[in-house]
Amino acid sequence: MISIILIYFGIVEKGFEVPTIILLFLCGLFFFTFIEYLMHRYLYHLPVTNPKREKFVYTMHGVHHDFPKDKDRLAMPPVLSLILATIFFVIYRSVMGDYAFGFLAGFLMGYTAYLGVHYSVHAFKVPNNFLRILWHHHSIHHYREPDKAFGVSSPLWDMIFKTMPRKSLLEQQATH
Ligand SMILES: [Zn+2]
Ligand SMILES: [Zn+2]
Repeated sequence: MISIILIYFGIVEKGFEVPTIILLFLCGLFFFTFIEYLMHRYLYHLPVTNPKREKFVYTMHGVHHDFPKDKDRLAMPPVLSLILATIFFVIYRSVMGDYAFGFLAGFLMGYTAYLGVHYSVHAFKVPNNFLRILWHHHSIHHYREPDKAFGVSSPLWDMIFKTMPRKSLLEQQATH
């Protein structure tokens, strides 16, 4: 929803050409998958060294690993997401000026897609098409190798940063 407003604003108010907006949108989308990977790998799975940190990590993500089927804990509270979106907008605006409109639209769309994928992975059965790779990928992260397979919306960054789960596990999963 916000993405649509941003795109509209970028085209109508800021006079961007449609191809430019699309390009920015795709960059933002792509950039989100990267941030998603980094956040999940380094922030949500922060090594616990003191009680304060432990509490933070647990509230942010540990609780999801303990209760992966609890649908109420799958997403951040909307208010928090809105605050974060605003912060990202301010950052992108100061770095890339008006380009931020298309870029943030893609970025937020990436976030929405991530939420959708993550929710589906936990709430629905494994689909019988190419998307099933996402189901397997994330369930390996949950149940087999929590230090691998951090990408939720795509395994791309796991491939790049070599945190793909072991092949044998993937094949094992695939036969289920
Ligand atoms: Zn995790
Ligand atoms: Zn999960």
